[in-house]
Formats: sequence, structure tokens, C-alpha cells
Amino acid sequence: MATLLQDAQCVVERDGRYEVVTQHVLISDGRIAAMGDEAATAVAARGAEIVRARERLVVPGFANLHGHCIQSLQRGIVAAAPLELWLLLVSSSRGLLTPRDYYVSALLSSIERLRTGTTAFINLALSGEFPDEAAARETFRAYDEAGIRATLAPGFVDLSYTECLPWQDELIPEHLRRPTTPRTAAEYDALFALLDRLRVEFHGRSDDRLRLAIGPSQPQRCSEELLRRTADYADRHGLVIHTHLLESRMQVLMARTGRWGSFVEYLDRTGCLGERTSLAHGTWLSEAEVQLVTDRGAWLVHNPIGNLRLGDGIAPVARYLAAGARVAMGTDGCSSCGSVSMLDGLHAAAVLGNVGGADHTEWLDQHDVLRLATRNGAAALQFPDAGTMEVGARADLVLYDLRDFPFVPLNDAVEQLVYGGHRAIVDRVYVGGELVVRDGHLTRVDEGAVYAEANEIAEKLRRDFPNVQARAAELWPAIERVSDRAYNTIGPGRVNLLW
Ligand SMILES: [Zn+2]
Repeated sequence: MATLLQDAQCVVERDGRYEVVTQHVLISDGRIAAMGDEAATAVAARGAEIVRARERLVVPGFANLHGHCIQSLQRGIVAAAPLELWLLLVSSSRGLLTPRDYYVSALLSSIERLRTGTTAFINLALSGEFPDEAAARETFRAYDEAGIRATLAPGFVDLSYTECLPWQDELIPEHLRRPTTPRTAAEYDALFALLDRLRVEFHGRSDDRLRLAIGPSQPQRCSEELLRRTADYADRHGLVIHTHLLESRMQVLMARTGRWGSFVEYLDRTGCLGERTSLAHGTWLSEAEVQLVTDRGAWLVHNPIGNLRLGDGIAPVARYLAAGARVAMGTDGCSSCGSVSMLDGLHAAAVLGNVGGADHTEWLDQHDVLRLATRNGAAALQFPDAGTMEVGARADLVLYDLRDFPFVPLNDAVEQLVYGGHRAIVDRVYVGGELVVRDGHLTRVDEGAVYAEANEIAEKLRRDFPNVQARAAELWPAIERVSDRAYNTIGPGRVNLLW
């Protein structure tokens, strides 16, 4: 079924800047088939549905390059703390979660994403040291039902949490250190066999809406053997590798004091740093590390709000871009940043892009951040034919209502979207040409039923939270000591000034 967006206010990119052009847009076979007068003449031939769009801003859907859908069930439970302390609280209810809970979290997250203008994203799914296959299957099923473009990276690690900490011999009491139990070759084989079953069943399914990525969750918690096998498997099948990188100050010190050396060099020497690699956070890279990431064509993913909430600092994105790095945008999960709305993240990225640099001509503006969140994000997900409004591109499009206050008066729609669009009304969303949000609600999902089930699951998590806190209490003072020393060693400055 073809659709004509008649007289739409289209956000198109010209010479690095976005501008609004009033024109018709014909959507057919999942793509933007024609624009302008040509679209109108093609309509009769294709029998398209006509949508009057003169009062709609049509923007390529955002691509959210970092997040954890399961955290949508934990919204509001875990208070802010430095990353390594916060991790003690955020992951330890996992044993209670069923595959059905993962399904519900994936639907809940998809509702929020689609209704705030995101059409594509990656979920680094953390369900234990190695992935839970049933949870991954249920997650894929939810994305398929919601109609969103989703890449699932089932996460894994094989080194212990305490073993990675700096100064562990000095600051972590011996009885609290958990040494790594080495994995056997058979266990690694089983991990990649699991990933392969998921790949065969889901990768490329539903008109290429669903994809599998490989998720070594953090380089410092993955052995060389595991990363080499990751790189080999991802290369063989052309899959994205997605990982966290240098999010906190403590990770800089882990790299300096631990077995890895530079995490970026570690990823590179194991074969994990390439054009299909996306690196979430990247707050604390040195100049040489940015250069290596840039040389390899890997993607840095800016997550400004999650970084601020956990006190990680501000990634110097303007400098990364000036160095030639490829940068996309993400939110992280709801436990760290409260929302998976990219509009909040765009606003934060745009205003934080002014911090740290004396030269105002290097500040980020609405054009820069919109590009990171659309065209760059789609490219990082390996959809180079998405994230733009041009003929032939995938029709992943969001229609905002221009009659509501974020756009009244209408002076500069792109600036108003980026700096004040967090309450903008999303009227319609198309993914691969299919209408998946109409009148602000999902067409394929009963939102109320999802909310009801999410509330039931959250009650289970809230009831268990005192147990989580009790388990964390033992290790908490020791991690606090390490965290404090990391702050004092690197410095409390909010912006990475390592270079
Ligand atoms: Zn994360």
C-alpha cells in the first residue's frame, strides 16, 4: 500500500544543514519513492492513501544507539550513584526476571521509543554473564509485534566484576573479591552456538527490521579469547559489535592499572574495532584513543543524560567530531537516564556541546545533533539507506504536529525540535513504510495491556529491592573507596580534559 504525505513540511539536509521544504512525499514498497511534484503524479498510478500533512513536520526517525530495554521496568527504583556503585543495585534483580518479563519490557520500551520519534535502536540486553536464549527470543518477538526497527545485542562477559577494579588488593577486603572462574572451550562454543541460532532465526527478518548484533558488554570484563572469538564471529556474518567504552573515571584507571592497557587498543588488537563497531559513552578517551577509533572507522555513541546522572562527566563531542570521529547518539536505559526519549538527549547534547571549549564557533548546534541522531545513527546500525529524507531511502519517518506549543510560533522548526521538542506531539510514525503510530498511539500494540503487565512485574522488583540493597551493602563501602579515589585521581572536572 502506497501513501502520499501531501504538502508535508519535510526536514531535508542540504550542505550539512537541515531546512524545511514543503513538498509531497510518496511512500511505497517501504521506501521514499518520490518527492515533490513527481510524487503527486505517481499517486494516481499507485492508488495511494492521501495524508494531508501541511501542518506536520516530517523528520527521519531517530536511531538510538545505546540502551537496555529491561531497565524500562526499573524506572524510578534505583537512585543515582557513581557507575560502579549503581551497578551493584541495577543488575541484581535479574534472577527474578522471566522471559515474559523481557517481552513486556521490550514492548514497553518500544512504545516509548516510537511515541517519542525513534524508529530504530540497539538494545544491549544484559541477562547474566552469558545470554538467556529464551529471554532473547521473547525480546525479538516483542520488537516484531511493535513494528519497530530493532537490533538486539545479547550481552556477555567472562571476567569477574571485582577483579577489574583498580587498587583491588589495597581497597577491597580479600573475602569480598570474587575471582574469575575460567570458562571452558565448550562453554564458549555454546555461547556462539546460541548466538548462531538467534542469527539464523531472526537476523534480517520482517523486511530486515530485526537484526542481531554481538554484545561483549564491556571490554574490561571480556577475556582476550572471548573478544577474539567475538571479532571472528561478527566478521564472518557481517554483524555489528556493540559495547560500553570508558564511561567512568574508574575505567580510565582500570585501563592504567590492569591487564588490558588502553581499552581501545585492547579492542583493536583483538579485532573488535572496525566500521561495524559502536562504542557506547566514550566519555574518557585520550587523544590517541580517539585517533585510533577514527582510523578504524568505529562509532562513538554520545549518551549525555545517563552520563550526567551517574556523574560520569561530559564527553567532548565537538572535539571528537573535529578530530574526524564518527559519532552517533543514544540514551542508555531508563535506570540511568529516566527515559529513552531521544528528544531529551538531543536537547542535552546541543546545550552541553557548549561546555569546555572557549571558542563558540565550535559549539554544537541543532544541525550537528540532528545529524548524529538520524543519519549517523542509522549508518552506525548499518542502515546507510535510512535516517534521511531523500528518494530511495527507507521510509522510517516521524510526523510531528506543528499546531502545538513547541512549534508555536513557528520560527525555525529544526531549532525548535532540538531545543524544545521534548513535549512535541508525535502524530504518526512510519517504519519501513508501515504506519506503526497513528494519532499518537501504536497501531499494533495494546498499550494499556502492556502498562498493566509492566506494573505487575515492577511490583515484584520493588518488593525485592531491599534484598538487592542488602546484598550490595557488603561490597558498597569498598567500592565507594575505589570510586572516591578514582574521582580524586582523575579530577572532579565534568569534561574530559585528558587531551
Ligand atoms: Zn549502558
